Order: sequence, then structure tokens, then C-alpha cells
Amino acid sequence: MEMSWEIDMTATHVTIGANVDFSEYLERAKTTGSVGEWPVKKSAKVGDRVVFLIPSMHGDLRAYGSIAGEPKLGSWGDSPRYFAEVKDVHAIVPSVPIALIRQAFPDWAWAGYARIYTTVPHDLSEEFWQLIKNPPLAYDTQDPPERIESVVSRFIRDTAAARALKAKYRFKCQVCGLTLPHGDGQHYVEAHHLRPLGRPHDGPDAESNMLVLCPNHHALFDLAVPRFVNERTLKINGKKHSLTLKHAIARSNIRYYTKHVIR
Ligand SMILES: [Zn+2]
Repeated sequence: MEMSWEIDMTATHVTIGANVDFSEYLERAKTTGSVGEWPVKKSAKVGDRVVFLIPSMHGDLRAYGSIAGEPKLGSWGDSPRYFAEVKDVHAIVPSVPIALIRQAFPDWAWAGYARIYTTVPHDLSEEFWQLIKNPPLAYDTQDPPERIESVVSRFIRDTAAARALKAKYRFKCQVCGLTLPHGDGQHYVEAHHLRPLGRPHDGPDAESNMLVLCPNHHALFDLAVPRFVNERTLKINGKKHSLTLKHAIARSNIRYYTKHVIR
């Protein structure tokens, strides 16, 4: 059945999907019609539209639905957040890479670092839905990631500074110590920028702005879950973790993360 794409008074929200097993939620939605409760802004109303962002390396918009209940106060990590039930969930095929949204709406600051849920500005809403409905074929997710590399590379490329810092930590996560060997003596680990690179944050690509993290802890930072108790102690979902520290993180970058990334 064709959905109506006419502009109306409802708002459009983007919420965060689970990056590992979102397909399970979609399967559940097929039988129950609902995917349960998801983080949304307090201002969300019943009947508003919701798009799910999967916050992976090449984050993309993978499903849409509508809000079925009033937002209720809950918690996400240590912070209070509002959650609402989402129903009528449909997959977006092919999914829409966030890089495309960023390209289409260069002045929409959120798209420059699209890891946290948001409400689509009303004046962009109609065009946004057109993209969700008719994503250009060049952005089919079956294409190799290089197709969008020019737009997202700032977030994933390994700079000389990142490579040197990873080596300093012997490719181990500063939070949990995990390292992922992948043959020939190589180990996989990721570098995270506390003050994000690119617009609108314009963080420096410098050691003093970086943490070396396993993919899981990197994802939690992208979701702005960890909080700094002090420069070497984090609080993650109520539990304290001591960071392994072999380099100096600038306080200004921790402050920026705390003030502008955690919202
Ligand atoms: Zn870790």
C-alpha cells in the first residue's frame, strides 16, 4: 500500500537502532507491528514519523515507523532520556547512508555527526522523506563503501596520529584492554575523537583528542554513553572504569565531549 508523503503537521524524528541485531527487531515488527520503545525527543507526539539510524561505521537509515505512545522518561546510560513506542515499522530498501543525508542537507549540523537521535528540521522534512522513499541508486548499500568514502572518510580514516597512538597502546582498548588479532601478527583497534572531526565540531586530529578503543567501546562513545568522572575514570552504565593512560588527553576536549556531544 502506498503511504501518503504529503507534507503534514507531524514531525519527523530520527532514532537510534541497534547496530548488531536490528534485523531481529524488524522480524518482530512483522508479527507484532511494534518494535517497542526507542529514544526520542520529549516533544515527540503520537502519529509523528520515526526513521531508524543504525550507528555503524557507515551509519545508515534502515527503517521507518510511527510513534504510537506518549514519550516516557527513562534512562540511557546515566542520563535521563525519553522513550516512545514505535509501530508500523517498515524497512527502507535500499537503506539510506547518512553520507547522502549530509550531502543533501549540508547546512543541517546534525547530519555532520549523526550518531544521536534528533528531530528533522521542519523545512527539510519533505525533502528528507523524498530521499527515504527514493534513494538514488548510486547509494545502494550493495555498492562498495568507497562510493561514499569521500564524504565519511574524515570519520573513519586512520591518520598518522591515530596509527602512532594505536601502536603506543599495543592495539589494546584503553577501557577494557581488548585487542583483536587478525592474522600475520596484526591487531585491530579503533581511534575515537572526543571532539568529533568535521562540521560542526571541527575537533583536532591530534593525540590529545583521541582514545584507542575496541569496536564496542567505540560504539558506546559514538552513542555518548560514557561519562568522564575525571581524566582517567569513566562511568559507563553506572559502572566505573579506569582508563589505561599512556598519553595526555586535553581537558578542553573532554569538556567539549561532555558539553556538546553528550546531550
Ligand atoms: Zn573496549
